[in-house]
Amino acid sequence: MIEGQTNVRSARFGAGAADGIGKELGRFIVTTMDLPWRLAKPRLGAQPVAVLRVESMEIETLDRQVAAAPECDTVLAIGGGQAIDLGKYLAWKRGLRLVTAPTILSVDAFVTPAAGLRRGHRVEYVGQTSPDPLVIDYDLIRTAPPELNIAGVGDLLSIHTACFDWELANRAGKSEFPFRAEDVAKARAILADTMARADAIRSCSDDGLGAIVEGYMRVNTICLPAGHYRVEEGSEHYLFYELEERLQRPFIHGWIVGLGVGLFSRLQENHHAEAVAFMDAVGLRHQPADLDIRREDLAASLLNLRRYVEARRDLWYTVINERALLPAWVETALATLRF
Ligand SMILES: [Zn+2]
Repeated sequence: MIEGQTNVRSARFGAGAADGIGKELGRFIVTTMDLPWRLAKPRLGAQPVAVLRVESMEIETLDRQVAAAPECDTVLAIGGGQAIDLGKYLAWKRGLRLVTAPTILSVDAFVTPAAGLRRGHRVEYVGQTSPDPLVIDYDLIRTAPPELNIAGVGDLLSIHTACFDWELANRAGKSEFPFRAEDVAKARAILADTMARADAIRSCSDDGLGAIVEGYMRVNTICLPAGHYRVEEGSEHYLFYELEERLQRPFIHGWIVGLGVGLFSRLQENHHAEAVAFMDAVGLRHQPADLDIRREDLAASLLNLRRYVEARRDLWYTVINERALLPAWVETALATLRF
């Protein structure tokens, strides 16, 4: 188990860890989507009193689903980020025990306390939950496409550029939070351990999938007490925010974060070649072609990025504020990418 504070009250790791779990939950409601539910249903050993499928993450939809859900003892959330977030929201609203069983590791929703939902079209994080237990069933997770599980390393690799950004902000006297060198050192140790397991992650072995989950939990031992995610969120995420607003569509989170790590490690002159080599070694997709992003859109996004982060006001000080993204730099950087 991980030392330090995480929101995970208990955890069960192993191939087949979800088998028969339904028998321990009393009356339970499942939150899920069609595909993960088909895969998980035969393993649970008991029938839920209701199955809530993700319809939309808009707050009005969630509140309607919560109001219509029957009485129960436990919420069992099975699936990817949205199914987990629906379960978190229901458990929090009703004050119920929560059990989470991710079937894919592409996002870290299963180790964070708040539920990500949408009000209007903006993301909002609501509530406070702790899975008891978090069930990491490697067999169940391996039913997801390997490239989507590998996408899970994106939010660990982001430590590479985010910690650099925090150090840079601190040197400039612009850090929004008290700078903690020991948090940066701890985060970098998580990244180093993740990078050392590239082969296992690439093959989605128990060890590799476990490395991603463990990495997320260790990040939380830093970020939950600090009250912010500065060690793993910086310029690489800000490009994603701009692109999401510009193109009005979702992306595979770890892939677009990987694109940002590639670009901003270059701008930071921060071990850029090693970061890219790791992404390629581990099989993390990070090319604009993988994300269906056109060259002109990425160029326009980069050239607009400083204006964008300055206008948002809720974003932290990063390399984007300090080094100008000039047309010649953008041209050179994009010439190394695949469209
Ligand atoms: Zn992220």
